[in-house]
Amino acid sequence: MKDIAKKANTMYLLEKYNMKATKKFGQNFLIDLNVVQKIVDCTSIDQQTCVIEIGPGIGALTEQLSYRAGHVVSYEIDIRLKDVLNESLQECTNVEVIFQDFLTVDLKQVVHHYKQHYSKVCIVANLPYYITSDILEHIIISQADIDSIHVMVQKEVALKLTDASYHSPLTFMIEGIGQASLDMTISKNVFSPAPRVDSAILSIMMEKTYNPLLTKILKQAFTQKRKTIYNNLKGLFLENTEKILNECGIDLKTRPEQLTIEDYQKLTHYL
Ligand code: SAM
Repeated sequence: MKDIAKKANTMYLLEKYNMKATKKFGQNFLIDLNVVQKIVDCTSIDQQTCVIEIGPGIGALTEQLSYRAGHVVSYEIDIRLKDVLNESLQECTNVEVIFQDFLTVDLKQVVHHYKQHYSKVCIVANLPYYITSDILEHIIISQADIDSIHVMVQKEVALKLTDASYHSPLTFMIEGIGQASLDMTISKNVFSPAPRVDSAILSIMMEKTYNPLLTKILKQAFTQKRKTIYNNLKGLFLENTEKILNECGIDLKTRPEQLTIEDYQKLTHYL
């Protein structure tokens, strides 16, 4: 089907297949073709790019990605969408839909495979908001050779993740691989059903290989956010904690969010 994202086309498909959006899978379908095309414009995908999409839904974004990219691989958890997608994406011959929970995908392996045929592999998605952090962590931790990530998330999440003065384990993980930016805000009114809040496109340019030891340090450092770095890291470095923090030039009374990515990188050397 052409222009799946047009409201009339979306409604036609949903009704024909008696498909009701379910909260369980964070389903909010895009119903504005113009907005979907603008989302694709935020990316630099071309015929030499393989796009990995998370959650095609009924295919609104997938279709537009297929016109721009060399290949699109879309992971969808909801098997009920099989018949809808068979019809809606029938003409998009460069799209491969895989019914699998994205959080169980061996991304490193998948990206390695596509990098043999395409010069770039990018992730583009209108994310299911209930697992935004899990998905971003899954991508980062995978150490897959991805060039960039462009995902729609809740606007306030995008604002936090791009605010240089806000720190959480996820912002440090993002800093550990590259640069995040907020590219575009999107009204809640262009979805069906409409979510409670507005959305935004968060882009992350992948510039560095992720150090997996960072995850271990960060999880431990943020066990109790109100506690000092010394108290939190004691659980990991035991009686060596004071010595290690001194060697890294970190004040024992600092709170975990006050450290820098460089501090955390230094701490990984002691694991
Ligand atoms: N891309 C469509 C659009 O923009 O209209 C749908 C986006 S909707 C916000 C999120 C999609 O992700 C749904 O199709 C949902 O079923 C799917 N989804 C939810 N959890 C998933 C998971 N763990 N793995 C793969 N897909 C998932």
